[in-house]
Order: sequence, then structure tokens, then C-alpha cells
Amino acid sequence: MKIEVFEIPEEGLNIELEETPKIDGVKITQPFKAVLRIEKNGQEVFVKGVISGEVELQCSRCLKDYKMPIRSLTELSYHPIEELNKEELVELKRDEMEVDFYREGLIDTEDIIRDQILLSIPMKPLCSEDCKGICPVCGTDLNEINCGCIVKEIDPRMAVLQSLLRRMKKNG
Ligand SMILES: [Zn+2]
Ligand SMILES: [Zn+2]
Repeated sequence: MKIEVFEIPEEGLNIELEETPKIDGVKITQPFKAVLRIEKNGQEVFVKGVISGEVELQCSRCLKDYKMPIRSLTELSYHPIEELNKEELVELKRDEMEVDFYREGLIDTEDIIRDQILLSIPMKPLCSEDCKGICPVCGTDLNEINCGCIVKEIDPRMAVLQSLLRRMKKNG
């Protein structure tokens, strides 16, 4: 949904909407719901609210797909993009609030939702905190069965170093 800044009334706007933004590499399994409060002060627009939905991610340990619900609070201050060229920006940065910019008098709620989704996705997604991952020897999913492979803890480079140290001790 696109919001025309000049149409935001003095008393502000309460909006509820559902959207499924397109994001590369992110599968959205449930449309995202946004409950937003929008206020305006001159050219500045404040957006506050809750964004919730669900995405499907791939676990970085066992490589299985899993669903992750997202619920994110958003609090943004929007300024016209034209301000970027002015010195005012320096002052904006001192503000506690997150600052974003709008173009051509329009704020796109899809962008707000997309940003919140991207912020909520972990760098290394895990299906569960204690996911055991995949056996490095046979590739079995260790969450399902224990294959019994013996995984040598010592890195081959370390083994070379150890034998070198042993030899040094002998000679010294
Ligand atoms: Zn996993
Ligand atoms: Zn194994």
C-alpha cells in the first residue's frame, strides 16, 4: 500500500494491512500483517507499529527448511529524500529514532515490511538452538539418528604441528 504524505490527516492514521513483499532468497509462507500508526509533523512522518508473519528458512547446520514466525516492532521517522542533500541530515542522525526517506511524497508500506523481515532474519538460521547438524563423514542428519561415525577432532594441520613439536623436544 502506498501512502500519500499530503493525505495524512492532522490527527494521524491507523492502518491495518496484509502484504507479501517479494524478497530474493526469502520464502514467505504467511502474508505479513502490519498494524501501523502514522503521524505527520510538517514533512516528517512517524510510523510506529507491529509487523508479523512467517518465513521459511534453511537451517545452516542441518540444511532442512523450517518455518520461523516473525513479530517485529517498528518505529521509524520518514523524511523527504530531498533532505538528504541538506545539512539537516547531520542533525537527524543524532536522533534516537531510525530514519528513512520517502520519494515523491509516497511511503510504501511494502518497503517497511520488507525491511523488518530482513532485519529479523538471522545471519545463520538454525531450526533449533541445539540442532545437531549433519555428520561430516556420512552426511546423516544427526537430529534423526546417530550414525556412529567417528569424527576425528584433530585438524590435520594441527597433527603436523604436534609431530613437529614432538620432534623438537627429542632433539632439544
Ligand atoms: Zn537444523
Ligand atoms: Zn556419520
